[in-house]
Amino acid sequence: MPNQREPCMRRGIRWTAPQFQQQMNDSLPRVEAALMQVVGQQDELQCTMCLLLSGPFSNCVSVRGIDDLSACANCHWIQEDTSAITRLSSRLKHLEILQHMEEGTRLMKAFTDELRMVLESSQSLEAQLEGLQRRLTDANTAIAVTGQPM
Ligand SMILES: [Zn+2]
Repeated sequence: MPNQREPCMRRGIRWTAPQFQQQMNDSLPRVEAALMQVVGQQDELQCTMCLLLSGPFSNCVSVRGIDDLSACANCHWIQEDTSAITRLSSRLKHLEILQHMEEGTRLMKAFTDELRMVLESSQSLEAQLEGLQRRLTDANTAIAVTGQPM
């Protein structure tokens, strides 16, 4: 497999080359994960773990076509390898969350529209009330002047 990129660390992770080497020496999956970063394909839609900023790499990169390596390099680094189905379902969940957010925005807009209508009608009620109060004051003034109800 040809090299695609240098392993790129997440913002906030400032390992020197020897420190990175030392981190890798911790376990074989970490060495594999670094290798996956170099030769794998970057996924346009990040997996849930990458969205949660798990693992040290800045990109969600996975190697396709190898059954044992269905997880991305970050997941492999933290050894949260998931099956392709789990990975797919986590993406689905992500899409569902997006859909819920869209639904939330739609509901919020409907609520805002309703609120605006209520406000407008309450303003017209207020105007009517003001008119009635004015007429009542006029009527009371008339009673006071003539001593007779209108
Ligand atoms: Zn990922």
